[in-house]
Amino acid sequence: MKSKIPEEKKHIIILGGGFAGVRAALDLNNYLHDDLEYEIILVDRKDYQTFNSALYEAATTEHRLVEAKKVKHTVAISFDDIFKRTRVKVFKGYVDRIDLINGKVITDSRILAFDYLVIAMGSVPDYYDIPNLDKYGFTLKSLEDAIMIRNRIEDLVAKKDSGCIIIGGAGFAGTEFAGEVHNLLKHECAHHQKDLNNYKVVMVEGGTSYLSGLSEKISAIIGSRLTTMGIETRFSSLITDTGKDHVILNMKERVDCDLLIWTGGVRSIRLPLDLPAGGELERDKKDRTIVATALNLSQYPRVFLAGDNTGIVDPVTKKPVPQTAQEAINQGKYVAKNIYRMIKDKPLLSYHPVALRFIIPVTGKFAIFYTPSVIMSGFSGWLIRKAADLRYFLSILPFTKAISYWTTENRIFMKND
Ligand SMILES: Cc1cc2nc3c(=O)[nH]c(=O)nc-3n(C[C@H](O)[C@H](O)[C@H](O)COP(=O)(O)OP(=O)(O)OC[C@H]3O[C@@H](n4cnc5c(N)ncnc54)[C@H](O)[C@@H]3O)c2cc1C
Repeated sequence: MKSKIPEEKKHIIILGGGFAGVRAALDLNNYLHDDLEYEIILVDRKDYQTFNSALYEAATTEHRLVEAKKVKHTVAISFDDIFKRTRVKVFKGYVDRIDLINGKVITDSRILAFDYLVIAMGSVPDYYDIPNLDKYGFTLKSLEDAIMIRNRIEDLVAKKDSGCIIIGGAGFAGTEFAGEVHNLLKHECAHHQKDLNNYKVVMVEGGTSYLSGLSEKISAIIGSRLTTMGIETRFSSLITDTGKDHVILNMKERVDCDLLIWTGGVRSIRLPLDLPAGGELERDKKDRTIVATALNLSQYPRVFLAGDNTGIVDPVTKKPVPQTAQEAINQGKYVAKNIYRMIKDKPLLSYHPVALRFIIPVTGKFAIFYTPSVIMSGFSGWLIRKAADLRYFLSILPFTKAISYWTTENRIFMKND
């Protein structure tokens, strides 16, 4: 039997419709499906979730083969599609301030009062105070970034007979991206009848291996694949300054470039919190706000954090939980569970991070699947990656929509290979 509609509803507001916010909203919808006392509202400046892990493919999909509008279908998952059959209301707006004391969120067009709040607003590039990097370095955080980078690479080959693209950072994003950039250059050179050998892709990395600290074996696999494509990697090389057409390495060596793409790291966005004087919340080195083990703020227990904003230490490794989609989804689940438990006066659950596993695509139908006990690379790794994408779409979309997003992604991205 459905509960009767209460006169005064309570509001659960979720800020950010990324991996964490979408999961939290869907799970809360399931927990509270017949409890009409609660209204679930998700606020985002966009009307879609950005599927970040496919951005590097979107940024290197040839313009002639796939126009910008179609690229959008591969990395933008519409909130209408996600929440169509749920009670979640989506409000498109930019969050300006969060007033924790009075329980209000101030957006560019509306003020929303909350009884429970989930903050899941994601991250921004971390420039590590490198001079001018924010001015001259392109980053890959959104659909717009992807389209801009693609246009720049296509322009480079159309207008010049040679060129150099520097990718700052040989972590997950840089490694995945470098090979795809090479592929786009190859297609563009063929189209404009230019010599591919005159265009260089150079990765610059401060550490001594790919995906620093993960595994020597993985670094070797990536190195061999990228070297075969002619991609050069400069290890132990820190970018210490940047200009319009160059970078400075280790404070002494100038390397000229036509395009600088920065994939060197992210940090949490600075949460726009209104707090009383002296009531600042503790943040870690990546600007993540420190939370209690149940993922809420000790000073404001009805306020929860999830995803890249969350500062929490893994009780096993004693290191901060990494900023990944898997963790964001897992935290979204915990937050929904704990809000429901709070509503039902049950004790809250302590957060447990997901088991360590990664899939690293390295161009074409080749990916590396990694867990501390298993490493698989090649076509089988690529299949696991495709299965993981499908699993994600099925977890947030109705069946036919999930299949439609997945097949569109595959159809378009296979044109890159
Ligand atoms: C290029 C790239 C590739 C990646 N590949 C992988 C991968 O293969 N595997 C993996 O595990 N992780 C990957 N990651 C990391 C992963 O995407 C993030 O850790 C994850 O997206 C974090 O989820 P989130 O919900 O915290 O934030 P996000 O998914 O970034 O969502 C934040 C949401 O908040 C909204 N928002 C922000 N500010 C405001 C505001 N002021 N007002 C309104 N809305 C706002 C944004 O529009 C966005 O929708 C990748 C990241 C990038 C950039």
